[in-house]
Amino acid sequence: MAQTFDHKAGRAVSRRQDEPEESNRCAANGCPLRGHVSVAGGREVCSAHAAAAPAQWSQVSEAIRDHDWLHAFIRDIQGMGDGPWVEYATRFWEEADQYMIPTPDEAHYFDAYFGRLLREFLYRVGATTRRPQRWVAADARKKALEAGYRFVRGNAS
Ligand SMILES: [Zn+2]
Repeated sequence: MAQTFDHKAGRAVSRRQDEPEESNRCAANGCPLRGHVSVAGGREVCSAHAAAAPAQWSQVSEAIRDHDWLHAFIRDIQGMGDGPWVEYATRFWEEADQYMIPTPDEAHYFDAYFGRLLREFLYRVGATTRRPQRWVAADARKKALEAGYRFVRGNAS
């Protein structure tokens, strides 16, 4: 594989950082993602293969390869930190799928939107069957209160 120098990391890395080394790769056949969830037999798989039934694994691998654009988008968003991720995500989705545009609540709570993105990825590759809901602060508060938690500064405690 072609090598390039990553000045930030100060070491040679593979040109495509998305592509893990063979030893880090998800144990599911044909999966391009990193494995980080241990499964039976001491092997490690990606979140999608960890969530999917083994009978679905090859279909999920194929769907993951078809959704490399979504994986790249998730990595872009992840790397933005305090940057303009709301604007970036809004522009990215406004014509493709308005359901994926960050809601006003999500725009104030990166982790909520990022969590939804990860679950959306699992849903779109067929690893899970229920599409994740948009995060709404009022709903989270209601659920916390129903569960008997006190609501303190946006977090149930
Ligand atoms: Zn995988």
